[in-house]
Amino acid sequence: MKSTGLDRFKASLRGELIQPTDEGYAAARKVYNGMIDRKPKFIVRCTDVADIIGAVNFARESDLLLAVRGGGHNGAGLGVCDGGLVIDLSRRRGTRVDPKNRTVRVESGCTLGDVDHATYAFGLATPTGIASTTGIAGLTLGGGHGYLTRKFGLTIDNLIEADVVLADGSFVTASADENEDLYWGIRGGGGNFGVVTSFLFKAHPVSTVYAGPMLWPFEKTEEVMRWYRDFITKAPEELYGFLALMNVPPAPPFPEYLHRKPVCGIIWCYCGPMDQAEGIFQPIRKIGPPVVDFVGPMPYPMLQSILDPLLPPGMQWYWKGDFVKELSDDAIKLHLKYASDFPSLLSTMHLYPIDGAVHRIGKDETPFTYRDSTWSMVIAGIDPEPAKSEPITKWAKAYWQALHPYSAGGAYVNFMMEEGQSRVEATYRGSYRRLSEIKKKYDPTNLFRVNQNILPAG
Ligand SMILES: Cc1cc2nc3c(=O)[nH]c(=O)nc-3n(C[C@H](O)[C@H](O)[C@H](O)COP(=O)(O)OP(=O)(O)OC[C@H]3O[C@@H](n4cnc5c(N)ncnc54)[C@H](O)[C@@H]3O)c2cc1C
Repeated sequence: MKSTGLDRFKASLRGELIQPTDEGYAAARKVYNGMIDRKPKFIVRCTDVADIIGAVNFARESDLLLAVRGGGHNGAGLGVCDGGLVIDLSRRRGTRVDPKNRTVRVESGCTLGDVDHATYAFGLATPTGIASTTGIAGLTLGGGHGYLTRKFGLTIDNLIEADVVLADGSFVTASADENEDLYWGIRGGGGNFGVVTSFLFKAHPVSTVYAGPMLWPFEKTEEVMRWYRDFITKAPEELYGFLALMNVPPAPPFPEYLHRKPVCGIIWCYCGPMDQAEGIFQPIRKIGPPVVDFVGPMPYPMLQSILDPLLPPGMQWYWKGDFVKELSDDAIKLHLKYASDFPSLLSTMHLYPIDGAVHRIGKDETPFTYRDSTWSMVIAGIDPEPAKSEPITKWAKAYWQALHPYSAGGAYVNFMMEEGQSRVEATYRGSYRRLSEIKKKYDPTNLFRVNQNILPAG
């Protein structure tokens, strides 16, 4: 690399360029998953679109491996790379709500918490995920499912347009009217086509929700899972509940006798009329009955952050996912087997509903091809101790292997580690070819390859 290129790039930059000898490098290269230990040559904290264009051009001209970091939450650590350049978007956290048209524009370094904070002030919300610290960029580009999904669809179903810096440094807008192929590709195809600089989303009237966790003793797991599989698909779309097999955190407000004990939980979110909420939950409260019931009215952003204290950055994470169409009795028995053998306090299994509004969009309308499934499952081995990385990984892999035959075949792209090309293709099924053609058009040399990679056609 010619030093003049680096000097020119440095001189053009409004943001910060961090190199291995700089103070702050050790912190800047960390991502959410403490298992990831990559050492890029350059980390560029961009402040504006000009910085992003400059960084893309510099990486391409210098033949540097290029990673793009939104919220840094990716399980496989795809927001950072070894030896190359990282475009770090964490300084770009601006938002603008248009209450008249019910939209929100967000810069691509925003977390889900930033988006909720902005929209809540206007009594609005955009469907995203379940943890406030997750990055909106990576989540959206993979699909995005969460508390409002049954009612309002995936995050991509609410994406009106996105501004993108392409591999050749040009800047385009992708929407239903402009660069339609790119607009199709970014709604599930990940960061394969360019650096998204901002997103424009629809927002919906959501303010106070009736929500929170309900826990049942582990002995009731089979009964609750059977009831849940039949109940949730017929429940009103305003009601969302993801099922979790988990250990009870050893802290208030959980009763001491339950601390560290495995339980079956459902984290609910009802976003319909508040005067109907008690009625909706009356029959649910009779199942079991639950030993913990913290469900009640709360501001939507509060719900989005209830899991945050349990999941600080820097822990060891190994997770694997799959889409699930039906939850058979045999599959439930296997869930029980692996959940009764958690390798750590925080390890868990979640089933996130993706029915309701998600099913009303055709499977070819976006690259998110598993719309016809019922849940997105994730099995996550989690522990603060690096020494635990091996047992949590082993457990998650064995659990996943046992359940995979009961799955729809592919996984949500945002719940994958680096699992090889065949798993990426299994995620996109019949859409892979079309994605591959779009990749060829917008990124023929595969500059954007630190992701669940779609290879350029041919
Ligand atoms: C605690 C936790 C909770 C989660 N909950 C949910 C949930 O409820 N629903 C859900 O759908 N997912 C959830 N996820 C998964 C999440 O969607 C993925 O981890 C996602 O990759 C995170 O995005 P990020 O921007 O934080 O990640 P990053 O690590 O920054 O990036 C992830 C990928 O996106 C690419 N990328 C990031 N920003 C851009 C950009 N601006 N332009 C182009 N490419 C970009 C990166 O190159 C990388 O390949 C959760 C993850 C965690 C750790």
